[in-house]
Amino acid sequence: MACEEEIRGLICDIGRRMYEKDFIAANDGNISVRIDEDRFLCTPTDVSKGFMKPEMIAVVDGQGRQIEGPIPRTSEIFMHLEIYKALPHVRAVAHAHPPHATAYAITDAKLPSGILPEVEVLLGEVPVAAYDTPGTKSFAQNLRPHLKQTVNTILLSNHGVVAFDQTLEKAYFHLETLEMYCRILLIGMQIGNIRPLGELKMRELLESKRRMGLADDRCGG
Ligand SMILES: [Zn+2]
Repeated sequence: MACEEEIRGLICDIGRRMYEKDFIAANDGNISVRIDEDRFLCTPTDVSKGFMKPEMIAVVDGQGRQIEGPIPRTSEIFMHLEIYKALPHVRAVAHAHPPHATAYAITDAKLPSGILPEVEVLLGEVPVAAYDTPGTKSFAQNLRPHLKQTVNTILLSNHGVVAFDQTLEKAYFHLETLEMYCRILLIGMQIGNIRPLGELKMRELLESKRRMGLADDRCGG
């Protein structure tokens, strides 16, 4: 694993990419990386994630208490800690409000599946967590029913998206994949009817996903 200094730089880099991609506005969004059993780097609050400096990054413990850093940590740390607690393999969490994905999170429209093969392989099932006031522990607890090995991206009702994985870049890529998918869906729906892959081709795809060692509840592996 990279040293703490490198991870601080990476958090700034991913923050900039989230901002430049319009996944976040103003001071929105937050990022964290687990660097030890009880030690996490996370983004500061009230700072644009597009313009962070490595020394701004906060250090917190497993309770969310700030250990280091000149600026208070993100108020969303409890959501991040809930994910780390449930999924020991996760080392990084990225939260943003990508517009097309968030559009699904503010409506009752169900995010369709079985349309694009890459999305099925890279994301798989994308659950929707119930709404509660951002920053609260009860909001963080709403993620619990969805935190399982086969999930790496969750839509947050009336809020946005959170993605997580073994590396920060992978977590960020999940945000990109979901946002691109939602954008394509919304454009496609304006042109015509969305054509599903179909049951047979989906089964084939999930079988190749299983062979790649990627777990998916829909293929029992
Ligand atoms: Zn948010």
